[in-house]
Amino acid sequence: MSQGNKGIKMLVIITIVIVVLIIALIFLNNAKNSSIGKVYNKPLEIAGQPFIGEENAPVTVIEFGDFKCPSCKAWGEMIYPQLEKDFIATGKVKFMFVNVLFHGEESERGSLAAETVWKLFPEYYWAFHHALFAAQPASQKHDEPWLTTEKVMEIIQEINGIDEKQFAASFQNKELISEVEKDMQFVDEYNVQYTPSIVVGDTMVKDPFDYETIKTLIEKKLEGM
Ligand code: CA
Repeated sequence: MSQGNKGIKMLVIITIVIVVLIIALIFLNNAKNSSIGKVYNKPLEIAGQPFIGEENAPVTVIEFGDFKCPSCKAWGEMIYPQLEKDFIATGKVKFMFVNVLFHGEESERGSLAAETVWKLFPEYYWAFHHALFAAQPASQKHDEPWLTTEKVMEIIQEINGIDEKQFAASFQNKELISEVEKDMQFVDEYNVQYTPSIVVGDTMVKDPFDYETIKTLIEKKLEGM
């Protein structure tokens, strides 16, 4: 091969590399900009769910979560406190939690326990909710069974104000299982694919840990009112 041919070959390779890099950059930039996930044709119609904040707050934020899901535990520790401080405590956002049962029997047990507390002792719902997430093992062991009836009862006993016997009678008879089934229907209806899924009004956030996008979406909705 002559020197000239080698030069042309090198030039072709360099050109290809540059083109590939440009395409990759465009792709990455687009991925970064599309922080919005699904947009529904109207705000989600989900009533009667555990909520915190002003009942008639202008914006509703919904978490679809699972007590067995490690990312949901992390979201509650890393993102929720900011949302609480900026928007829930200030009366701008009503925050709701809908159960997702992606981890079988234990998800169902956690959901049923939470629905039971919400129905019988609503003022203690969030204490129970946070205590149950706190009980989730932080290590890789979260896949091993931990959300047992014993664990649920242990947490219930730690919350002063919940009548343990009244709770146990309802929980063990699965009296509120229809509430859990209702949540499964919402998950189906709104095509929730992963947990946690965060929906601001009618818009799902692509990355639930992207607080800036959550904040921007809430502010846009507040401005539009
Ligand atoms: Ca529910």
